[in-house]
Amino acid sequence: MAFVFSRLDDLATWAQTHSLSFLFLDLSCCGIEMMHTTGGRYDLERFGAVQVASPKQADLMIVAGSISYKYAETLKKNYEQMCDPKWVMAIGSCAGSGGMFEGEFSYSTVSGVDKILPVDVYVPGCPPRPEAIMHGLLTLQKGIVKCRAQNSWKDSKTSSPEL
Ligand code: SF4
Repeated sequence: MAFVFSRLDDLATWAQTHSLSFLFLDLSCCGIEMMHTTGGRYDLERFGAVQVASPKQADLMIVAGSISYKYAETLKKNYEQMCDPKWVMAIGSCAGSGGMFEGEFSYSTVSGVDKILPVDVYVPGCPPRPEAIMHGLLTLQKGIVKCRAQNSWKDSKTSSPEL
């Protein structure tokens, strides 16, 4: 019986990792690469991730580009509306660490999305190529499988950091 349940769990894990619904936040130039990745040539959907328009239908947030302090609160509200369990991918140097706008170089830009939200995968680059974005998605899927196997995804997620 344990075998049957473990196989059912594997099936549920496979279904979860290959039916991610992502909310794409195109905040700057990295967004162009992300659009390219979802287009016909690279076709991100073949990996089991489809773009949705509403945060209420999404379990993955993809943040591409620099984040202004003005927009940070909206970003956080979008994250809070997403269903659990949920994940965040930061695309490019600006979303990852602030990039060229990091720290004292800008008064208006957040030094990385992890200052606002718990990030699961960082994709480096300025901008990262579509292959790197696809690799980021595959890395996230592997991470979800690992966390489900350890039954630890609930523990791995923390509440949003304060801005
Ligand atoms: S990482 Fe580079 S390409 Fe991406 S938003 Fe920042 S400046 Fe633009």
